[in-house]
Amino acid sequence: MKSVGVIGGSLGGLFQAVALAELGLDVTVWERSAGRPDDRGAGIVLQPSVAWFLSTFCGVDPDRISVPVTHRQFFGRDGRSHHTLMGQRMISWGAIYASLRNRLDGARYHDGQPVAALTPRVDGVDVHVGDAVHPVDLAIIADGSGSRHRGLVALDGAPRYAGYVAYRGVIDETELPEEMSAVFRDRFSFYDADRTQFLCYFIPGDFGATTPGSRRMNWVWYVRADAAGLERITTDREGTAHGLSLPPGLIASQVHVELLDRARMLLPKPLRLLVEHTRDPFAQAILDGRVNRMRKGRMLLTGDAAFVVRPHTAASAEKAAADAITLFTALQQLPSLDAALAAWEKNRLAEGIALYRHGVGIAQRLGLNSPMPTTAAAVEPTL
Ligand SMILES: Cc1cc2nc3c(=O)[nH]c(=O)nc-3n(C[C@H](O)[C@H](O)[C@H](O)COP(=O)(O)OP(=O)(O)OC[C@H]3O[C@@H](n4cnc5c(N)ncnc54)[C@H](O)[C@@H]3O)c2cc1C
Repeated sequence: MKSVGVIGGSLGGLFQAVALAELGLDVTVWERSAGRPDDRGAGIVLQPSVAWFLSTFCGVDPDRISVPVTHRQFFGRDGRSHHTLMGQRMISWGAIYASLRNRLDGARYHDGQPVAALTPRVDGVDVHVGDAVHPVDLAIIADGSGSRHRGLVALDGAPRYAGYVAYRGVIDETELPEEMSAVFRDRFSFYDADRTQFLCYFIPGDFGATTPGSRRMNWVWYVRADAAGLERITTDREGTAHGLSLPPGLIASQVHVELLDRARMLLPKPLRLLVEHTRDPFAQAILDGRVNRMRKGRMLLTGDAAFVVRPHTAASAEKAAADAITLFTALQQLPSLDAALAAWEKNRLAEGIALYRHGVGIAQRLGLNSPMPTTAAAVEPTL
């Protein structure tokens, strides 16, 4: 095998592209969106595969672009907290993305070029982009939860709405009064209540900056919403419906007012203040997606195109990194391409199913799983 085409140039596609380029393969990435994406502002718990990938394949010391926490802090409704010792590191989506893009030869990455179709051949795949057809030996489908190419590999697997949303917010550390910052410094903070959960932690600022003062506070609040509620939350202030997520800066004023009211009613004071200090809250629907296969011939599914796991696992980016590391290792160690792809699929399916179940189990314990029949609560993804 010589050439690999990667469909989708976000984290899932980039992990694969960087790892396979390390093997000396001729890798091309096609990404639908034009330009470098904004740092989506989102925080990500730094897990072992991502850390290993950054240091081994990108030459980046993950400790330099992540923020340490030393304790987990649990709030009660009265605002008092207790904590337990637990060290972790927090990173941002943007810091991982920048490390991967900087590592990949720019000529291999074609942004603003959606892949329209894939045509399988016996010994490869034709990738259709605009009027051009690019033959590759292996196609890696990394086009995310709304994948349009998933059906070429797996018949089922389109994600479904799980019945709740994550409201999210990011606040520059400089905009937080010192007495508020001090409450959360070095802490991964949680508030669990009836059918809701709030969590927050500091993440790096621009360009992975981690010095105190240059970081950002990142919070996530899981709130149940039926299909009509989801539509209201993700319809922006101009009345445009965004489907499964609402980007920062677009929240409708009535939805924002309701969020603040809800925070006043339900959250302990330190967490309510975070919501009130957030200029541009955004939101994402929580989805469940699982496939029954990840490989067909010379096509593989990776990242969210294969499994969309609940965010409580803190493992979506980790899973995408592990998809790439496992393929790298299988191609290096196994005697034939078919043997490597078969071993990869077996490993990644087992991991995906285990994580999927683990996430649903955590949500169950938090009371977040919808009691309504799935069909009534479900909405088809439009991403
Ligand atoms: C806003 C946001 C916040 C997140 N927060 C967290 C978090 O806090 N913790 C965590 O672990 N994970 C988080 N995730 C998830 C995590 O980033 C993903 O699970 C992981 O990066 C793998 O995603 P992916 O690359 O498979 O899919 P995606 O990130 O969805 O990327 C798919 C890419 O494919 C491109 N694409 C789609 N169709 C085509 C096409 N036809 N041709 C070419 N390109 C195409 C899209 O433009 C996109 O860039 C978040 C994701 C998002 C979007």
